[in-house]
Amino acid sequence: MRIVKEFAGLVDDEVELLKKTGRLGLEVADKMIENVIGTFELPYGVAVNFLVNNRDYLVPMVIEEPSVVAGASNAARWCREGGGVVSTATEQIMISQIQVVKVPSPHTAVIRILERKKEILDLANSTNDVLVKLGGGARDLEVRVLDSPVGKMLVVHLLVDVRDAMGANIVNTMAEAVAPIIEDASGGRVLLRIVSNLADRRLVKSWTRVPKDVIGGEEVVEGVVYAWALAAADPYRAATHNKGIMNGIIAVALATGQDTRALEAGAHAYAARRGRYEPLSTWEIDERGDLVGYLEVPIAVGVVGGSIKSNPLAKLSLKILGVRTARELAEVMGAVGLVQNLAALRALATEGIQRGHMKLHARQLALAAGARPEEVDAVVEEVVKSGRITLEKAQEVLDKIRSRR
Ligand code: NAD
Repeated sequence: MRIVKEFAGLVDDEVELLKKTGRLGLEVADKMIENVIGTFELPYGVAVNFLVNNRDYLVPMVIEEPSVVAGASNAARWCREGGGVVSTATEQIMISQIQVVKVPSPHTAVIRILERKKEILDLANSTNDVLVKLGGGARDLEVRVLDSPVGKMLVVHLLVDVRDAMGANIVNTMAEAVAPIIEDASGGRVLLRIVSNLADRRLVKSWTRVPKDVIGGEEVVEGVVYAWALAAADPYRAATHNKGIMNGIIAVALATGQDTRALEAGAHAYAARRGRYEPLSTWEIDERGDLVGYLEVPIAVGVVGGSIKSNPLAKLSLKILGVRTARELAEVMGAVGLVQNLAALRALATEGIQRGHMKLHARQLALAAGARPEEVDAVVEEVVKSGRITLEKAQEVLDKIRSRR
């Protein structure tokens, strides 16, 4: 802290700001990462109206972007009218990759490794008694021969049921443990031993039906489908379409202490699995003329492990959400992603994103201009009325209000 203060020329008030940590105290933060000089806060909201698999959920969301919580809550209400969201997760299988280079006869090695499958799985499982007792553990082995830029190499996939953990550490440990057997069986040299974030054995599939009258009639239903179709035809739109889905998923991930980079990496790699970047969701019109949405995305999350137990707010979020297993958490997150997607598509296909967004954006500008909480509403009202939603305008309005007073 002293070095940073000197280096950046911080004044005492700024150092005090860094020292003022929230519920994640400095001592805990300092154990989580390195070179800690503070903690960082974001707004924590709760999205409402969620009905997933016939259960009501209050959804904690941590995010800096306006409209996300409101959008999710609104769209969840439309989905509720059609019976809510049906969400189902596959088994919680993570993949660990073991790279083998300099293999004299790659296809022979495939067989030699598979012949020792039981031995390999048993050794992997010996690294985690707790997991095995809970019914999880290494389940299967796959071996592929790859044509890489430096010639043929093998990659072994260890498929592990990680139960209620995100699982990266679990499977990394297993991959390291079994490496010697794989070297012995293949005659090659093991290099990388690391989890794959393309968690395509750990998918969530979420589905919803929104009655056409609830969402604004035939034209709106058609508009949403046209909006989705652009994403299906064009990666420039698909990227933004999927970003909207991740707005919801990542906000819940932050609130519950998940590895958000792993989720992003997995989702986008899955979106490109057919060799072209595609939308993770599909929207169509059913025989009644209602809107139907379907989302399929890998969601690797945990309710144990990682930073979840050390971060008091992550634990609290899981309690508010009322989920006990990683699978249920993933199912709710899939539902949130689908609903968030709907909120964005409907706004885009009707009045455009800005009208709803701008009031919330103006609120951030008012704060950025230095408005105190009691001044914000007045600043927002005038800024929105002016149609010039800029920081300069917010500043100008604030000055005017203050001088008037
Ligand atoms: P972890 O290492 O804390 O492991 C969880 C442990 O909890 C397990 O080993 C198991 O023994 C025990 N456990 C108790 N109850 C359990 C239950 N019901 N189900 C499953 N396990 C139970 O955590 P992890 O989930 O293995 O690893 C997650 C962490 O790894 C994250 O913090 C992530 O950021 C980090 N990480 C990610 C990557 C990546 O995504 N590429 C790479 C390395 C590390």
